[in-house]
Amino acid sequence: MITYRYAVRAGRLLLDALLPPQCLTCDAVVADQGQLCAACFGMIGFITEPCCAACGAPFTHTAQAGPDHLCPTCTDTRPDWGRARGALRYDEHSRPILLGFKHGDRTEYATPLARMMARAGAALLREADLLVPVPLHRGRLIARRYNQSVLLARALGKLACRPMLPDGLRRIRATAMLGELSAEARAATVSGAFTVPPRRLAAITGRRILLIDDVLTSGATAAACTRALLAAGAVRVDVLVAARVPDPRLA
Ligand SMILES: [Zn+2]
Ligand SMILES: [Zn+2]
Repeated sequence: MITYRYAVRAGRLLLDALLPPQCLTCDAVVADQGQLCAACFGMIGFITEPCCAACGAPFTHTAQAGPDHLCPTCTDTRPDWGRARGALRYDEHSRPILLGFKHGDRTEYATPLARMMARAGAALLREADLLVPVPLHRGRLIARRYNQSVLLARALGKLACRPMLPDGLRRIRATAMLGELSAEARAATVSGAFTVPPRRLAAITGRRILLIDDVLTSGATAAACTRALLAAGAVRVDVLVAARVPDPRLA
């Protein structure tokens, strides 16, 4: 199986080298690898202001911002992290990019996604001492061969000249896929699933950490990682993701 996947990937890399570069989501030819064609670029939902000051959920109009520019969810319960920002709305236009990147071996999407994240999270990156990716459980890492969040964090670290610690967090419990679970069930599933390994405590203590992940849905995973980093002595945790699922309460 693994040999087959390597062969498929090697074949595709060879084709990519022979063919002109294609748009990230369609067959259109573009000038450079990792670009969107004009039509797809127009359909992609880049998240811009106004958005929730705490979780980055895009507002459809400014009047949705409550006190302190927070969405209803964060007004009810303020997250433990400082700010979360996402580059793209997770929708039918961005989903093929995110799914290809996470499950389809399209590891070359890391750089274009990181470029979009660097724009959306410029302020967060400026203030971060260290980038830490959300870890995969060992079993899942072996099955998938790569952790998409590590690839994003590595590309972002290069773009923003920030150090990155791939094993700053460890997933101590394998958790079921969160797929269809409710926000409450997601929180219960991932609570306590992460820890800072003892040998990484010195690197985390006293630092402003930017947590990196591919998709933010309910925020349960980011919240569990944030609590582990704060418990290890991080002074602040912000969150930067490639895509976030818009809050249905803001639709
Ligand atoms: Zn296109
Ligand atoms: Zn919010």
